[in-house]
Parts: sequence; structure tokens; C-alpha cells
Amino acid sequence: MAADLRAIRADITALDVDGIVNAANNSLLGGGGVDGAIHRAAGPELLEACRKLAGCETGDAKITPGFRLPARYVIHTVGPVWHGGERGEPERLASCYRRSLAVALEHGLRSLAFPSISTGVYGYPIERAASIAVDTVYAITRDRNDLTSIVFCCFSAGDLAVYQAILDDLPDR
Ligand code: ADP
Repeated sequence: MAADLRAIRADITALDVDGIVNAANNSLLGGGGVDGAIHRAAGPELLEACRKLAGCETGDAKITPGFRLPARYVIHTVGPVWHGGERGEPERLASCYRRSLAVALEHGLRSLAFPSISTGVYGYPIERAASIAVDTVYAITRDRNDLTSIVFCCFSAGDLAVYQAILDDLPDR
């Protein structure tokens, strides 16, 4: 049975799932937006764990424990900065979702929540980013039974509507 894909509006730091994904920056040493919220909620141990990872390439993903979060793990990925779409942004954004899922599977995670990577400070247009997010995750999870639940965690009602429309258009649901 394929994983259940759904969009919700929530603070990702409150979600009780195996893993939450962090939209981090290359240093992995914390930032604003969802990154700052995750570090605040997880506690200072998260920054210590991130230091040991020595950064992360754009499009890659690395894992730490969740510390004080309800989630057991945090998967830190680095989305591309939007420069108009001709500088490899779609491929790199898709890579964030692919690599995050691969790392999750390597660690036996079954439920995962993603924020809307790159669509905050990094400026990626929400409709384009959400299509890549949903298409990439759907293509990977539709034929597997080791991931049970994928949540697209939206921070605004507008983002939720965009994700919901894309999910509603998926086949076999
Ligand atoms: P990026 O630098 O990758 O653009 P941001 O953190 O600026 O990352 O934004 C990514 C998305 O995360 C945005 O849609 C933003 O509104 C959202 N966001 C910010 N805080 C939270 C949170 N606590 N839970 C879920 N999403 C959040």
C-alpha cells in the first residue's frame, strides 16, 4: 500500500511523527523561519549535533535526533535560493525531497513531515515548489509500503490551498 500523502496547516515543531524535515542553510548552524523554530523547540543539543555534520550541500540531506521535539529525528535539507528558475533550482529542490526520503528510509522512519522548502526567505514561487514537492514524493512513495505517512506541513492558509489542489489532482486517490 502506498504512503498516505496529505497537506495540513500546522507548526511543524509540534508534530508527533518519526521525522520532521528542516529547511536549513548550508552551514546547518541555524537560521530564521522554520529552521529557527525547529532549533528553539529542539533545544541547544540540536545545534551541537548539527556542528558535527560540518554543513550540507544544496539538495542534500543529513539527519540528527529530534532532542526535545515530539519528532524522533530531524532531517536537515538545504533548498535552492530562487534566481528565476534557470539555475538548476527545480532539480535541486526535487533533490531535497529525494534525499530526505532516502535518509528517512535508511533510518527506518515511517512517518515524515516536510515544510514548504525554499518558499520562505529563499523566494521559490509556492505553486512551482509545491508541484515539485508533491510530484517528487508521490513518484517515490507510490510503490512502497515502508513509508506510511507523508505530511506537507504548511504555515499559511494560502500555501495549504496550493498543496491541497495539487494533491487532489494526483491519480489513484
Ligand atoms: P527557506 O529558506 O527554505 O525559504 P523558510 O524557513 O524561510 O525556508 O520558509 C520555508 C517555509 O516554512 C515557509 O513557507 C514558511 O512560512 C514556513 N515556516 C516557517 N516557520 C514554520 C513552522 N514553525 N512550521 C512550519 N512551517 C514553517
